[in-house]
Amino acid sequence: MAVEPQADCLFCKIVSGDVPATVVRETDTTVAFRDINPQAPTHVLVIPKVHHPDGASLAAAEPAIAADVLREAGEVAAQEGIGASGYRVVFNTGSGAGQTVFHAHAHVLGGRGLQWPPG
Ligand code: IMP
Repeated sequence: MAVEPQADCLFCKIVSGDVPATVVRETDTTVAFRDINPQAPTHVLVIPKVHHPDGASLAAAEPAIAADVLREAGEVAAQEGIGASGYRVVFNTGSGAGQTVFHAHAHVLGGRGLQWPPG
């Protein structure tokens, strides 16, 4: 299970600072930054600093850090002022579900009405 930074991983480069990002929160184990192509007025990605390809892999290998990511998703929502109105936390998992960056990340989306089922 890969946990070392991956040379070809965009989000590992955001963790290291080699790629810039608009960081809104950071902890010892996580970074939260604004999505470059927002799908809602608030669209923040919460990632573990360690590299795992998706949320399920992260949870299986390092459940405490997966819990950190989920807790930070809630903290982002509170900080962004969308906690009361409702927000969505999404882990796209696999290319068929729309995953394009294979470093675990939670999308935190809110600030507008969100439809169900998602597209
Ligand atoms: P996925 O499609 O679930 O893998 O989500 C990847 C997300 O990363 C997409 O919503 C992209 O818009 C976002 N993204 C890609 N490159 C960057 C970047 O450099 N900074 C911030 N977000 C990015």
